[in-house]
Amino acid sequence: MSDCLFCKIATGQIKSEKVFENDTIFAFKDINPQAPQHILVIPKRHINSPAEATGSELTAIFSAAARIADELKIKDSGFRMVFNQGPDAGQAVPHLHLHLLGGRPLHWPPG
Ligand code: 5GP
Ligand code: ZN
Repeated sequence: MSDCLFCKIATGQIKSEKVFENDTIFAFKDINPQAPQHILVIPKRHINSPAEATGSELTAIFSAAARIADELKIKDSGFRMVFNQGPDAGQAVPHLHLHLLGGRPLHWPPG
């Protein structure tokens, strides 16, 4: 989608700190991290809800996040994966993205 921020990040039109990429997904550091490690994992295809994702896209997103958690050494201490969906969840960017957060104790419920 031509005017979507995350589509532009996935294609490299807008710079980001990439941590992982394959044919299906792109992962990069959040510009305003809420934890010492805060990564966004997105499908390259422009969709805006988990319901629109194919099974292989969802598998690719979660597999990449788990692999990144291992690489960032937060697998054993623990981490959180979350989709913010819609206004009540405070979703700001309308392109499906999984937040991977770790590197500090994560309180629940979040603020
Ligand atoms: P949401 O609130 O939609 O679930 O999360 C959007 C996330 O995207 C926020 O955590 C925000 O910091 C991040 N973000 C917004 N604009 C940019 C950007 O241009 N680059 C990067 N790397 N992250 C961004
Ligand atoms: Zn998009």
